[in-house]
Amino acid sequence: MSSSTRRKSARTASQATQPASSARRRSPSIEFVGMRRVALAPFNDPQADFVIQTQRTNTMFRVSLAILAQASSFFRQVESQRKQNPGLRDYEHLDVAESDATIETILRFIYPVADPVVQDLDDVCDAYQASVQYKFDYVAKRLREFMLSPRFMDNEPVRVYAIARRFGLAEETNIAARHVLRFPPNWPAYEEFDHISGRAYHELLTLHKNRGRKLVEFLHSFHLKEKITCMKCCPREATAALPRRQPEWWQIYVQQATPLLLDSPANEDIFSLEFILKVAIEAGITCSMCCTSIMQAAQPGGAIAILKEGLASKPFDLVVSNT
Ligand SMILES: [Zn+2]
Repeated sequence: MSSSTRRKSARTASQATQPASSARRRSPSIEFVGMRRVALAPFNDPQADFVIQTQRTNTMFRVSLAILAQASSFFRQVESQRKQNPGLRDYEHLDVAESDATIETILRFIYPVADPVVQDLDDVCDAYQASVQYKFDYVAKRLREFMLSPRFMDNEPVRVYAIARRFGLAEETNIAARHVLRFPPNWPAYEEFDHISGRAYHELLTLHKNRGRKLVEFLHSFHLKEKITCMKCCPREATAALPRRQPEWWQIYVQQATPLLLDSPANEDIFSLEFILKVAIEAGITCSMCCTSIMQAAQPGGAIAILKEGLASKPFDLVVSNT
């Protein structure tokens, strides 16, 4: 059962008496003709030489096979076979299991009209699956770009990860996984998980956990390489026997940043001067010179900027299996 089919089965009793696609109200370009529905312009051309009919609602999209053939090797083959077998209905009509919204989305990408309005990830996923099935390569590429748009990456990167894993999209999987690291690993049981393996899910969790640990390890050793100092807290130079003391504010900063890095390894709040001052003030640091040290560390090119670069440069080690 496809994800969209499951969504339809979850409709309420009152919705169940309506055509399936009406529940989502994503495809207003429909008009009724007797018991059948015909898509509105430009997919209602009575002179069209091909009909795509959605089985769920019997909606007919009257389209140009030549336009479809330009965008899809599947329809190029249909066009070729029609030339060899003129008059056969098989090459003039195609019943499809996809929803009206999915078909309209694909057609709007390949027709010289405005791009479709893709409202949510379900739309993207359904349309992508259909575009692959019917070999609309350009449409598939555009939909992969949609998956990576800030609208989805900023809010639902875990869902994008699962969709990318489902369809074997390596680049999109990696990009989505990086965005997942901006958030705690307490995501809900998304429906998209039904379509990926337990291993694929575990790989994301492992990435999150390992990334947090690796960055915290780097944070804790950072002061050994960089001169984070305070004239009052650590007045003397380090020696082999006696390493330099850490400024009071830095010790508090590391303590407070550690759980945040473990929770959200790509969270950038910890690099802000606001965060550093906040944790220092709330901890009630006693050193009167630490404030100067903080301002030096937080300036452009200072220790905090170097820390940020160092954390970001850590190899991204998502392990992606073939399952
Ligand atoms: Zn100090």
